Amino acid sequence: MEQYMVLGHIGEGAFGKALLARERFGSCRRCVLKQVSLSRMSAQEREAAKKEVTILSKLKHPNIVTFFHSFHERNSLYIVMEYCDGGDLMQKIILQKGKPFSEEQITDWFVQMCLGLKHIHDRKILHRDIKAQNVFLSHGDKRVKLGDFGIARVLNNTAELVMTWVGTPNYISPEICENKPYNNKTDIWSLGCILYELCTLKHPFVAKSWRQLIVKICRGSYNPISDRYSAGLRLLLSQVFKVNPQDRPSVNTLLKNPLLHRRISKHL
Ligand code: ADP
Ligand code: MG
Repeated sequence: MEQYMVLGHIGEGAFGKALLARERFGSCRRCVLKQVSLSRMSAQEREAAKKEVTILSKLKHPNIVTFFHSFHERNSLYIVMEYCDGGDLMQKIILQKGKPFSEEQITDWFVQMCLGLKHIHDRKILHRDIKAQNVFLSHGDKRVKLGDFGIARVLNNTAELVMTWVGTPNYISPEICENKPYNNKTDIWSLGCILYELCTLKHPFVAKSWRQLIVKICRGSYNPISDRYSAGLRLLLSQVFKVNPQDRPSVNTLLKNPLLHRRISKHL
């Protein structure tokens, strides 16, 4: 910890806080210290925290929050990572105060999220907690990065599917509602929820009770987005919100969509 100068508190997480810090030596770059308190955790949760470190340390991609280092101190695990100066996408959406994003901005961010997701899905890793709060902005808001791999899982083989109910209720997919296994298409559903939020500044699926929420999700019924957006964008949403995961595109299929495909080269 002596190696870092803490500059401030930037976020509160489920198991600890996120601190903005600066390295005292070497490049003296700014970074985020995610402090994960191990004392309040079950053995299983500790395992998950360690897994996050292992997974993060292996992922290097411009659209994934870069892992720098990790260490143990006073019963806490510290994950040191790249600081994203634009904050998270949920904060960004709130700051809009109802003013819509341009289609240009939406597709530009969405293609970057897809490229980050491709990097992990190609390695048989599922994110499992994709939501606006776990997507970070950097270089102002030019770069979008997937972060918070707290509950990500590595699929040992493609056939292996994981079954647990995790995540934020609004982002839950039809298959999870039906207690079916989590798979790569479940991450696509969550990504679709973010795409919808970028278009409307609202969640696609909201209800007063769990039961009503599940009904809406399982029907895949959402209010249409404004007609200021193109038919192509509307079509894209209808694809990511296919109720049957087999009908939902994989990230590689998504990236072939003309709306996205022509933007890929800009981000490589
Ligand atoms: P948790 O697993 O508890 O959700 P997160 O890693 O998502 O923890 O961090 C919680 C909050 O801290 C985020 O929503 C964000 O506001 C802030 N934060 C975390 N990591 C970063 C980062 N690398 N750059 C900027 N802000 C961050
Ligand atoms: Mg988070």
